[in-house]
Parts: sequence; structure tokens; C-alpha cells
Amino acid sequence: MDIGFIGLGNMGAPMAANLLAAGHQLWGFDLTAPCPAGVICASSAAEAATARDVVITMLPSGAILKSVAQEVLPAMIKGAILIDCSTVDIESARVVSTQAQNLDVLTLDAPVSGGISGAAQGTLTFMVGGTQDAFARCEPLFEIMGQKAVYCGDAGAGQAAKICNNMILGATMLATCEAFALADKLGLARQKMFDVVSTSSGASWSINTYCPATGVGPVSPADNGYKPGFAAALMLKDLNLSQEAAQKVDADTPMGALAATLYKNFVENEGGAALDFSAMLPFFEKKSRTPS
Ligand code: NAD
Repeated sequence: MDIGFIGLGNMGAPMAANLLAAGHQLWGFDLTAPCPAGVICASSAAEAATARDVVITMLPSGAILKSVAQEVLPAMIKGAILIDCSTVDIESARVVSTQAQNLDVLTLDAPVSGGISGAAQGTLTFMVGGTQDAFARCEPLFEIMGQKAVYCGDAGAGQAAKICNNMILGATMLATCEAFALADKLGLARQKMFDVVSTSSGASWSINTYCPATGVGPVSPADNGYKPGFAAALMLKDLNLSQEAAQKVDADTPMGALAATLYKNFVENEGGAALDFSAMLPFFEKKSRTPS
């Protein structure tokens, strides 16, 4: 396929490189990041999108997605597909979908799980909203960039799945970190804590696959000075998106709300912005009990 790729940062560049390696022709555009080798560098987002079968965006926010879409959609051919892989608010995904429909362009919101290493290795999980027809046409691309693509429903459903998943992730990581900090103070060896919890009902991805305790469990950012990985600032972004969404539909999400508050404090006041989101463990370790 002829593919335009807009947003060639930490995630976009390796995803584009994988599409290129699979034999597709790519035109790329980014405001600051260079085009990966082999990607034809366009001088604007519109130029990257003109006459392509598919245009993929991998951008920081919903506001940026909407402004890029305004430029890109009129340049796209009728029947072409815009796949937005960014994590953005559901509303922005739906606005872009409606604008595209009016121009006979199809859209998919297809945020990802799997991080920078998943993008590099082509093992991302895509959660996808939009029409089933557009999803079917793009499945071969998802197979190159990822290991799984789940069709979630109409426009916005992919973003809904993403923020619900990451709300669970934020809460389970915090619960795992505070439990390790408690276990330390109770004199329980970390390895024993891991051996028990990872095979008991407290198990989750946060401890089994991404253990926040240094030297225990599979290799994770905890074994690399808490260098991301998945930055605490990105977790805060996703938790804020989940809280905005919950507010709009009047859903009660007290655990998600507390997770957002704790990560906000960690990122904004405790120097956590550039650390992995599992660095809540050394943060809890240093703290005494909050007076109730
Ligand atoms: P990034 O900041 O590395 O890349 C975003 C890129 O978009 C940058 O290179 C920036 O220059 C470019 N950009 C910004 N405005 C632009 C515009 N108007 N036109 C063209 N390019 C523009 O971010 P990232 O880590 O690649 O993340 C991208 C998206 O993926 C985000 O929505 C993020 O939440 C999501 N995500 C990231 C991860 C992760 O681990 N990094 C994991 C899952 C999802």
C-alpha cells in the first residue's frame, strides 16, 4: 500500500520502519523528528497524505490530532482510511470520524498497548473503533505492526478500551507498589513476596510481567534505574483521559480517580515525570503513613 505516516516520534518511527520493512511505500511527516531511513520525507502533513491508500497518525494529544486531521482529510482520496494510533480522548476520535465521513474518508481509532519495545518488535496490541469494513481492510497492517488487533465497535470504541485498560493498569501498579513497600516494612523478603503473589490471587501484569521491585521477577524498568518503559507522565495522561470520560458519562471510578491523584502528585511534585510508572515503589518506600 501507499501509506502516509504523521508523527514519527518514539512510537511512530519504529511502527513506520516495520511497515517499510514489510514492503509498503511510506511518506512521512513530523514537525521535529526525522524520517526513518527509507521513508520519503514530505514537507507537510497534507503532502504525506495526498493520494495514499492509508494515512496513519501517532500524535501526542486530541487537540493536535484534530488540527492535523483538518489539514489531512481534505487531501485524502475518497475511500482512503485514516488510522489514528495515538491515545486521545473519545470525543476527539469521534469528531475526526464525523469530519472524515463528510469527505468520504474512512477512519479507525486504533490506540495501542505494548510501548516502545512493542512498537520496535512489531508486537503491539491494537484496540480498534470504526467500521468493520475499514478494520478488515487494515488488518494486514495491524498484523505487521502488532501481534493482536481487537475490533471494539464504532468510532471511539478503541479509545474507550484503551483508557479502561490503562485505568486498571494504573490502579494495579499502585496496589502492587504499596504492597511491596508494606512487605519491606514487615520484613518479608521481596523474592518471597514475588513468589507468592505472582502465583496467587494478587497476581497481575504489574507484578508478573513488569515487577516494580528491583532484582525480582522478569527484567523490567525497575532493573534499569526506573528509566521508562512507560513513563509516569504518560500514565497520568491516560488516567486523566479516563477521568474526563468518566465525568462525561457519570461513571463512578473512585480507584481511577485516586490513581490519577497519586500519579499527578508523583509527576508534578515528586520528580516522577521522567521515571517509569513503576517508580511509585521507591516513592512509597520513602514515605511514612499518611495521617488519616
Ligand atoms: P512522541 O512525543 O515521541 O511522538 C509524537 C510525535 O508527534 C513527535 O515526534 C512530534 O514532533 C510529533 N508531532 C506533534 N505535533 C505534530 C504535528 N502537528 N504534525 C506532525 N507531527 C507532530 O510520543 P510517543 O511516545 O511516540 O507517543 C505517541 C502516542 O502514542 C501518544 O498519544 C501516546 O500517548 C501513545 N502511546 C505511547 C506509548 C509509549 O510507551 N510511548 C505507549 C502507548 C501509547
